[in-house]
Amino acid sequence: MGKPTGFMEYNRELPAHREPLERVNDWQEFHHRLPEEKLKTQAARCMECGIPFCHSGIMINGMVSGCPNHNLPPEWNDLVYRGLWKEALNRLLKTNNFPEFTGRVCPAPCEGACTAGLVGSPVTIRNIECAIIDKAYEEGWIVPQPPAKRTGKRVAVVGSGPSGLACAAQLNKAGHWVTVFERADRIGGLLMYGIPNMKLDKRYVQRRVDIMAAEGIKFVTNTEVGKDYPAEKLLREFDAVVLCGGATKARDLPVEGRNLKGIHFAVEFLHANTKSLLDSNYADGNFISAAGKDVVVIGGGDTGTDCVGTSLRHKCRSVVQLEIMPKLPSERSSSNPWPQFPRVHKVDYAQEEAAALYGADPRQYCIMTKKFVGDERGHVKEVHTVNVEWARNDQGRLVPREIPGTEKVWPAQLVLLAMGFTGPEDTLLDQLGIARDERSNAKAEYGKFMTNVEGVFAAGDMRRGQSLVIWAINEGRGAARECHRYLMGFSNLV
Ligand SMILES: Cc1cc2nc3c(=O)[nH]c(=O)nc-3n(C[C@H](O)[C@H](O)[C@H](O)COP(=O)(O)OP(=O)(O)OC[C@H]3O[C@@H](n4cnc5c(N)ncnc54)[C@H](O)[C@@H]3O)c2cc1C
Ligand code: SF4
Repeated sequence: MGKPTGFMEYNRELPAHREPLERVNDWQEFHHRLPEEKLKTQAARCMECGIPFCHSGIMINGMVSGCPNHNLPPEWNDLVYRGLWKEALNRLLKTNNFPEFTGRVCPAPCEGACTAGLVGSPVTIRNIECAIIDKAYEEGWIVPQPPAKRTGKRVAVVGSGPSGLACAAQLNKAGHWVTVFERADRIGGLLMYGIPNMKLDKRYVQRRVDIMAAEGIKFVTNTEVGKDYPAEKLLREFDAVVLCGGATKARDLPVEGRNLKGIHFAVEFLHANTKSLLDSNYADGNFISAAGKDVVVIGGGDTGTDCVGTSLRHKCRSVVQLEIMPKLPSERSSSNPWPQFPRVHKVDYAQEEAAALYGADPRQYCIMTKKFVGDERGHVKEVHTVNVEWARNDQGRLVPREIPGTEKVWPAQLVLLAMGFTGPEDTLLDQLGIARDERSNAKAEYGKFMTNVEGVFAAGDMRRGQSLVIWAINEGRGAARECHRYLMGFSNLV
């Protein structure tokens, strides 16, 4: 807890974002920081609530409530309130390897379950988490800490997203020699090439990777296991293997005109954009440009939002974000009470920017795409849609029904498909003979993480399907714990 009466004395306060009309002109992060005194006041709002739910990480109604990784906000809030920043850092790092990532990108289910939010507004947990780790880097408290002893065991981690990185960090801490294989040219998975720079500056990803390399972890880039490096060689050369390859198969939209030029998957667009930014500040031209175009983003989630923010920075002519589901209510509905994850309408950074530039939120709800129409060069020029209403079918399932007379044509020279992911790619899993679950993910029980192949573990999106960074960290840590147990007969990792 912070101050017992803090939640009654102080209002919730978050740092203002940079001005939308200013920040769309660059790729710097859009977050500002609160001064230390204000952060202490915010930490003071953590009440002595008896049974905190913020760290519970339980599933209610198919959604997580509280931190999936069981981070312990009440403890670090109290330490920040008392000015004990280094102790707060130690508490934070006990459960989370990378608070500099979650402090920036986590949707903070902890805050949805915060007791202060039951009758008022929740503690600014994510922001305080970010402030602790940012201060720690500035003070020079984060330095490489290689293990004192090596076990001589060798572990391969395939994939360098947050699950692979968390797994590698933990196994290295336990003294194993860890090699991380990554097919991209940079380490970080979707932290590097999915989430754009204005949300998570790639300097922070690289800074952590450099520390891990100095701790003894070997990173092998530009190497796809199963293609550039035979999968069975992994089994011969390493004592254990952890598969953290993500859920990279994007959901497609197989409607008429899908093969026209100018229609891309969101991650293709976002990956090329960040790579060109980092390689040459766009001088190489190796990215899909939205400049001067009417952009239609299909998908109303986080990935779609990142496409909107990126298109605006390219200086697109217009942008709309089409969502098939209805708009969420502005406040919790009676079927979504505390401490469930609040399913409420939010305005994210890119929608705020689009509204500042064009006068309106770019999202359109209950819209179904019917077809794409191209010009004489085979390039997309229009998206044809119809409005839908949602109703229950004979089996009681909610299904969309088209509303006659609501057909609409949207001009589009660039279409970005951001409708989620269907599961992991097959090559590597098939080569290793890994069993799949009913959603095509690598089959491995949560908590044990071992697949049907002895000594081969799976974690992160590759095991649970498309998810969140904090789930990936949680699973990477869990797989490391179980892999350590497999190698040594016991596990002192948590
Ligand atoms: C655009 C976008 C924005 C997102 N924004 C957020 C957000 O704001 N907050 C949040 O919490 N979550 C967000 N997510 C989800 C989050 O990024 C993922 O849940 C998380 O990164 C999954 O981590 P992972 O380590 O399991 O996999 P990934 O991050 O997908 O990493 C897997 C890595 O494995 C590599 N790989 C795959 N196969 C092989 C192979 N055979 N050999 C070598 N390497 C291989 C891939 O190249 C990739 O780098 C976002 C996702 C996307 C797509
Ligand atoms: S990782 Fe996310 S859910 Fe967990 S404490 Fe931090 S902000 Fe909250």
